[in-house]
Amino acid sequence: MAKLAIVTGASRGIGAAIAKKLAAEGCDVVVNCVSSVEKAEAVAAECRELGVNAYPMAWNVADYDACKLAVNEIKKNIGVPEILVNNAGITRDGLLIRMKPEQFNDVIQACLTGTFNMTSLVGAQMLRAKKGRIVNLASVSGIAGNAGQANYSAAKAGVIGLTKTAAKELGSRGITVNAIAPGFVETDMTASLPEDIQEGAKARISLGRFGKAEEIAEIAAFLASDRASYITGQVIVADGGMAL
Ligand code: NAP
Repeated sequence: MAKLAIVTGASRGIGAAIAKKLAAEGCDVVVNCVSSVEKAEAVAAECRELGVNAYPMAWNVADYDACKLAVNEIKKNIGVPEILVNNAGITRDGLLIRMKPEQFNDVIQACLTGTFNMTSLVGAQMLRAKKGRIVNLASVSGIAGNAGQANYSAAKAGVIGLTKTAAKELGSRGITVNAIAPGFVETDMTASLPEDIQEGAKARISLGRFGKAEEIAEIAAFLASDRASYITGQVIVADGGMAL
């Protein structure tokens, strides 16, 4: 029987690439988004072309009750997920002293609280099943900090702490929990950065270019597979040699 994967924020960018990569490896996939339902449907259609089942579903990962409803619905109608990829995230950049509380809180809610909500709810099902793989999208900003991203850096540092704690709590039942910390990756998130910031960033990257969503998807698929059975609580940095 095919493994079932939930990928949050899979309507675009890195999440869409991860959903398609997992589908290519034979997983059935729940393709989550918050509002781009048509895009999630298109990603699901691409997954189905690879011969698996795919289910576009919209819910807000920052909303615990919405997550609970979705996770229960998935269990009832599709099955218990063996793979959870907490990929959904947003940025609301601005300098610390000018950052509005809602700007800070929105990013914490989407990136960190969303990862907690889904890990807690799906983790409970994985514990009963005594198997599971959880992959969280962190960021190099969560390791080194980044001017203009106090909210995002704090959220992603929190994701790393959550990853390590979940790895310790869930490990005895064979569940692994790891994080990926990308640098700059070509998606809508980085396309909105001013040209000079993009060029300045590229100058600091050893490989001289931004990463591709598919390059991050390779790591997620590896961490979600049986090939990574003895890796847990780790943060894999994929930044083209930026943080050297
Ligand atoms: P993106 O292109 O902006 O796509 C974001 C995805 O998250 C979309 O599918 C969006 O759904 C979904 N989403 C946002 N808020 C959500 C919520 N509250 N509930 C459910 N889904 C939500 O982002 P990306 O660049 O692919 O980034 C994916 C992940 O990698 C994020 O966690 C990001 O922080 C991390 N990351 C990205 C980079 C980079 O350079 N791109 C670097 C480091 C880390 P809708 O389409 O419905 O809005």
